[in-house]
Amino acid sequence: MLSRRLERRPDGRTIVMLAGIIDETADLEALVADLDGELAFDLSGIQRINSIGAHRWILMMARVTAHRRVVVEAVPYCVGMQANYVANFFARAEVLSCLAPYACDTCDTSVNMLIHRDEVSLRAPTRWCSSCKQELRFDELGGYLDFLVRTRAT
Ligand SMILES: [Zn+2]
Repeated sequence: MLSRRLERRPDGRTIVMLAGIIDETADLEALVADLDGELAFDLSGIQRINSIGAHRWILMMARVTAHRRVVVEAVPYCVGMQANYVANFFARAEVLSCLAPYACDTCDTSVNMLIHRDEVSLRAPTRWCSSCKQELRFDELGGYLDFLVRTRAT
């Protein structure tokens, strides 16, 4: 089950907040069919995406990014993994931010942190534990962030 919530920003851009699961039941084309102008997808609510869902996502993104500016924000871990496996996952859209896995070894906890692509250089940006204030450990291989930086405008 995939749902969408829309928000109009004062600058005219439409925020498309998607939540749920992207799989063979997700009608992605219908979710964007009535939208025009610049779009910003917020994917923070996506819980899972399977290979059929990824295929449908790529077709939708190719179409929706063909003639307008599209940005993608708050890409969750499950989507980021798919994006690293598949070329053109975001077509011509720019990915602005993602939710990346960090861990605190002191508190033995895991937490997803929002990171912006401009913070990423050769390594993940530094984040701090909200409980013990120690520096968090980036809990993935450095290559995980490839999808985030490779759409950066040069
Ligand atoms: Zn901690």
